[in-house]
Amino acid sequence: MDVPSYSASDAPVPEGTVVIERASTAQDLGPKLSRTAADVVRFLLTNGEMVTGTQSLSDEMIEMFATEIGAEIRLVDPGEEQEVELRKILDFPDEDDEEIVSSWPIRPPVITVMGHVDHGKTLLLDRIRSANVVDGEAGGITQHIGAYQVTKGDSTLTFIDTPGHAAFTAMRARGADATDIVVLVVAADDGVMPQTLEALDHAKAAEVPIIVAINKMDREGADPEKVMSQLAERGLVPEAWGGETLYAQVSAMTGDGIEDLLENLALIAEVEDLRATSEGRAAGAVLEAHLDTGRGPVATVLVERGTLSVGDPLVSGAAWGRVRALINDKGENVKVAGPSTPVQVLGLNEVAESGDSFVIAPNEKTAGKVAETREHWHRVASLGRDASAAAAGGGAKLEDIFQQIQSGETATLNLIVKADVNGSLEAVTDSLKKLERDDVKLSFVLRGVGGISENDVQLAATSNATILGFNVRPDRQARELADTEQVEIRNYEIIYKLLEDIENAMLGMLSPEYEEVVTGEAEVREIFRVPRLGAIAGCMVRSGVITRNSKVRFLREGTIIWKGEIQSLRRFKDDANEVAAGFECGIGLSDFQDLKDGDLIETYEEREIPIT
Ligand code: GDP
Repeated sequence: MDVPSYSASDAPVPEGTVVIERASTAQDLGPKLSRTAADVVRFLLTNGEMVTGTQSLSDEMIEMFATEIGAEIRLVDPGEEQEVELRKILDFPDEDDEEIVSSWPIRPPVITVMGHVDHGKTLLLDRIRSANVVDGEAGGITQHIGAYQVTKGDSTLTFIDTPGHAAFTAMRARGADATDIVVLVVAADDGVMPQTLEALDHAKAAEVPIIVAINKMDREGADPEKVMSQLAERGLVPEAWGGETLYAQVSAMTGDGIEDLLENLALIAEVEDLRATSEGRAAGAVLEAHLDTGRGPVATVLVERGTLSVGDPLVSGAAWGRVRALINDKGENVKVAGPSTPVQVLGLNEVAESGDSFVIAPNEKTAGKVAETREHWHRVASLGRDASAAAAGGGAKLEDIFQQIQSGETATLNLIVKADVNGSLEAVTDSLKKLERDDVKLSFVLRGVGGISENDVQLAATSNATILGFNVRPDRQARELADTEQVEIRNYEIIYKLLEDIENAMLGMLSPEYEEVVTGEAEVREIFRVPRLGAIAGCMVRSGVITRNSKVRFLREGTIIWKGEIQSLRRFKDDANEVAAGFECGIGLSDFQDLKDGDLIETYEEREIPIT
């Protein structure tokens, strides 16, 4: 059969830019560009793409057709246009009028600490936090909620625990420009390093004031002058040298200079004259979100304006709910939170996305409706992506990717990524995307927070995908199904290892996988405190055999909460070497005390899987 030749119809194309949703079908696309579905299908056919009128098209196909007929288009994700309407319904706050802002009260600055790995960000944040804990306050224990506030003289400062530069930028990309001041940490004995410069780029892009903390001043090789001249070259000229950048010389280890740093931060904040109203419905950003067994979805949010109160109908992306409780950075329940305050929010119906903005809706009904509409569009968007990936030629599993690359066509690696929290999920997918090459594309069939379930395996089987788990594990049903369906599940706890494996697979050098064979599984029924022995988990062995001294991990809802070795194993009052399925036993928890009933204890062995 001859391929029919395509001849463009003469009808004029629409004027101006036409908005087209990604994954549109020929039937959607044609009429929007004054053509018929048949025109689109015929054109694609002459270009070697066989599609039906109702099949989702890839971005390239849509663009190809638009170029052919001379139409100007803008591709948007499904729901993007609708989002504008939803924001109107929610009465989302617009940019603030400067005149009004100047009448608002001063608010605390929001500070992000960045710098090269190991230069002391974590210790510095801990030091600032603990220096500020009033003596005797619950033994200095504060809750890690992803952000905290300290007071310095008359001023309050808000610090965000940023997991990394990528997360900082991911938040900015989503419009959550939460940071007012960046503290750039540089180790005095190490000087400016690659990630210092990366941090500097991120901070510059955010257009916020930067203060440099030269850390590790207690170290022998400390050379603050060198750090200053290295950074002066890049525009951060110290005040002492006639420039405008403040430098603080500190030691996160001894605490020296921290007061000075805090004072300087307060000073910068004063100059910046940061203001926000505490009146009206709250709006702000989600800093971190995860699923907690006892408490359900938990989100740490930063209130940017207005006052957030218990009982408010909150919407963030497709998550929503009436705020059930607010918990501050000291672990206390509070009723309200004002501008620049970080709080944990309980009561949402699902795990929010970190970096998303949140608002309080005029009423609960609107909140629910908006979230539902967004959920719908998210689903359409992800289905569309799968469909267009499929339309673009299938896609392969990890073990087949090299073959596909070698065959010369553009290879697509289909992945399902599951992680413990949204922050790590984002970090993993963002880093994975950077591995894409011209000849290898990645397609995320599903990205989600939580353990690997039977559903995930089912989806992997139907979409020819490999499952990557980060700090999570498959449950038994998922494992069994993966065996029968021959779905590969690879589990990681270190992001570099994960990236290295994927990169190697693309080079045809996939390293042998160490399969962790689960040897026994016990469910925690009750925790006992035994004098001298500490905590003992009373368990029922559900499958396999639990052996003393075997490697073990504790799982809560599929997420790894601890790894180590079994210290002691008892049947009734006696020590036992092993306990088989169907029996009860007591398992000593060594230094890990945080088990709850319902948690799973899994013992495993590592075996190398030969490459076939
Ligand atoms: P991060 O990767 O930037 O978060 O760095 P960490 O806070 O984890 O610090 C890395 C290492 O440097 C840890 O072993 C810290 O104990 C150590 N460290 C951090 N600050 C100081 C400091 O001021 N002096 C000294 N001597 N060691 C420090």
